[in-house]
Amino acid sequence: MATQPSAVVIGAGASGMASALLLAMHGYRVSLVERAKEPGVTLRGFLKSRLYFDSGVHFVGELSPHGLLTAYLRYLGIDDLPSVEFDRHHFETVRFSDRREFSLAADFEMMLAGLSADFPTEKDGIQHYMADVKAAYDSSVFHSLQGIPGRDETDPRWHIPLQDYIARYTRNPWLQTLLAIPCLYHGVSPNNVSFLQHARVAGTHFDGVRTFAKGGLSLANAFEQRLAEEDVALHCSCSAVQIHCRSDGSLSEVELDNGERLACSAVIYTGHPRFLPQMLPEKALRPAAVNRLHQLYDGMSAHLLYLSGGAEPPLLLNKKNLLYCRHDRPFSDAFQPSHRGHEGPFYVMPGPSILNRNSGLYHSADCVAVIPCGAAEYRAFYGTGNDKRPAAYRALKKQRLAALYDALRRAIPETEGMRLVDGATPVTLQKYLYSPECGMYGAAHDVTQFNPLPVTRVAGLYIAGQAVTGPGVIGATISAFLACGYLLGHQNLLSAVRACR
Ligand SMILES: Cc1cc2nc3c(=O)[nH]c(=O)nc-3n(C[C@H](O)[C@H](O)[C@H](O)COP(=O)(O)OP(=O)(O)OC[C@H]3O[C@@H](n4cnc5c(N)ncnc54)[C@H](O)[C@@H]3O)c2cc1C
Repeated sequence: MATQPSAVVIGAGASGMASALLLAMHGYRVSLVERAKEPGVTLRGFLKSRLYFDSGVHFVGELSPHGLLTAYLRYLGIDDLPSVEFDRHHFETVRFSDRREFSLAADFEMMLAGLSADFPTEKDGIQHYMADVKAAYDSSVFHSLQGIPGRDETDPRWHIPLQDYIARYTRNPWLQTLLAIPCLYHGVSPNNVSFLQHARVAGTHFDGVRTFAKGGLSLANAFEQRLAEEDVALHCSCSAVQIHCRSDGSLSEVELDNGERLACSAVIYTGHPRFLPQMLPEKALRPAAVNRLHQLYDGMSAHLLYLSGGAEPPLLLNKKNLLYCRHDRPFSDAFQPSHRGHEGPFYVMPGPSILNRNSGLYHSADCVAVIPCGAAEYRAFYGTGNDKRPAAYRALKKQRLAALYDALRRAIPETEGMRLVDGATPVTLQKYLYSPECGMYGAAHDVTQFNPLPVTRVAGLYIAGQAVTGPGVIGATISAFLACGYLLGHQNLLSAVRACR
């Protein structure tokens, strides 16, 4: 009788939970290891003053009944999560400091029409740019789910920095900023992200944007339930510290920090790739690969302000996001390591209470403001998250959050009546996301560095997670299918997902 293959998945974020499910659904005996006390720590949000706030999922594209993410989740057995649609015509208000205001749609045709109406002399450029975004998005079979990609994703023109790509079509600085806004959803400056990588994120908004009606918590819970149904052995509150190999180089065990050893023939690693080499035997990876992984740096960090107000939320957050940014500074400044954030950009997103106003579940409106910044001022406090934080950190956090809260209310007077319930700094992100430099989306997808491929030199060891394909729930989920496809067959998985659409 054939023995059942066994796998260890390291990290129970969206990518790790999806990988564990996929392998278990295809006959593997799977152990899923997570250093946090629960799976899905990035997704599940938190309670503060009896209010629920979302943490790592505020909105996602491709969640309509025929959406790409819906198909992936459906294949994984997560099929009935209620969602709420953002305003398709007016998904984002973009307010510049010179009081110019634009609205952006979450729909390809509506966005094209809206931008062309706002910038009539730029119409041709807008049309060409948006058609390119769509073509680049569809060039990945994992995004389009078509058997044959429409265009070759190795096209060198798609690998130049976004800023240069946009400049080919328009010199208008307001329009350039509007086209670069999705940089906030992947955390890399328009100077540094390739057009192709940007398009893979921007293109997810071309068919509406939704979120989970009961927050990211409902997604985390649905994953957890499916893991139990598929008999995945969950090891929480422990870290994988070592991946052991036999003398012939094949995988043997994953060692945990509690001393336990989990035998396996396959490992999917979904943590920050920078920490992978230290878990492997010396020389398991080539020196050049180790160097590349060690040098991977993180994208944008941020402060986050969690706000709550009276029963009536600001109208401009009614199923809409709001971005405030300076008209007299390049948008790319927001991604500089020295950027402190007190002049914006401020990106404000409605929380579940505003999105579900008629549900009767919530008595107070909530929203989250993301304020991009560099993390350098917190460097002295890196890694201090496991015990009580030092007094100097607590003082700095209090002072910075108060100053940013004031700045936010000055820039967006509509938030005036909302109180600051909680806040996060770059080192809060570091603690929960385990990213070495406090990146909101982990390792940056930057034209100057090589993000890891899913396949490694160690047979049976694969890498998944936002560092491989791209951030966001969609990026993380796709990375799981990409990595597990090496064990289960990419075409099999893709056809099965296609059938779920
Ligand atoms: C503030 C914020 C807002 C966001 N908003 C959105 C949004 O609105 N929409 C959207 O789509 N995306 C959003 N994202 C991004 C999205 O949440 C992430 O891209 C996605 O969840 C990443 O999933 P992942 O599995 O790749 O990584 P992670 O969720 O980071 O999972 C990796 C896991 O591995 C664990 N781990 C690491 N090393 C080890 C080890 N050695 N042993 C055991 N466990 C280990 C970590 O603890 C972690 O739980 C947001 C992120 C943040 C931070």
